[in-house]
Amino acid sequence: MTAPIIRTKADLHALTLGWRRAGEVIGVVPTMGALHEGHLSLVAAAKVGCDRVIVTIFVNPKQFNDPKDLEDYPRTENEDARKLARFSVDAIYVPDPDQIYPDGFSSTVSVAGVADELEGEHRPGHFDGVATVVTKLFTQTMADKAYFGEKDYQQLQVVTRLSADLDLGTEVVGCPTIREEDGLAMSSRNLLLSDRARIKAPALNAAMERAKERIEAGEDMTTVLGEAKAQVLAAGFNAVEYLELRAVGTLAAVTTLEGPARLLAAAQLAGVRLIDNIAVG
Ligand code: AMP
Repeated sequence: MTAPIIRTKADLHALTLGWRRAGEVIGVVPTMGALHEGHLSLVAAAKVGCDRVIVTIFVNPKQFNDPKDLEDYPRTENEDARKLARFSVDAIYVPDPDQIYPDGFSSTVSVAGVADELEGEHRPGHFDGVATVVTKLFTQTMADKAYFGEKDYQQLQVVTRLSADLDLGTEVVGCPTIREEDGLAMSSRNLLLSDRARIKAPALNAAMERAKERIEAGEDMTTVLGEAKAQVLAAGFNAVEYLELRAVGTLAAVTTLEGPARLLAAAQLAGVRLIDNIAVG
């Protein structure tokens, strides 16, 4: 069944009021659209964990530090609604921009610590944009649970911190990364890859998997990470922004593998920025 598409917060409140009065558990899956199996896995998890599921689609200008990236970002609303039909979600919230950022909007939510490095360093302002829109979406939907992908591992940590710090009352649930058969993490940005670039793209994950094995086998971390970056570049990527091992949760730098860690990377391929991360240890 096709879910109603809601475009204003007033209509959203009208819809969710009855659910809340009935004590139903409301789940939200925040997305920027161009839905793929990665997003749909979050929807499936929300359907299992909640009585009502709202999928939000909003290409949030505040989290784009590059105007060209915002302009190029794929927008496929009709197709997205069709893909959601098989999950019988209860609402698709596609807010008009003024429902999120009305005239005169001047507040920013900023998370320190876990948001500072990696993506925070390479995409200035990105996590302020994410934290601000997520705060708005959590308060507008009044969701009990929100589903986020480990694909954006640092974002998952930032949003978890944010919801706890501000008592937003929304439990953040992390879900595993869904990949193409060749290991490439599914991403809306993959649509922007040329056929030639698409063939090269799995090299990022492949290099990370090799590095993971070597680090777990006790090899020198600096050597392994240096070689992994070189492999990514040799496969045809234009730049590796970072490829680093960090502690789970806090994302603090680690120099030796002492506990569960995460290998995180961002790299540029033919004008498209790809990110990935995997568990190590
Ligand atoms: P986006 O539309 O890129 O903002 O992503 C919306 C949500 O889907 C975020 O929580 C992402 O982490 C999640 N997501 C994106 N790609 C994947 C994937 N390949 N596997 C699992 N979750 C994903």
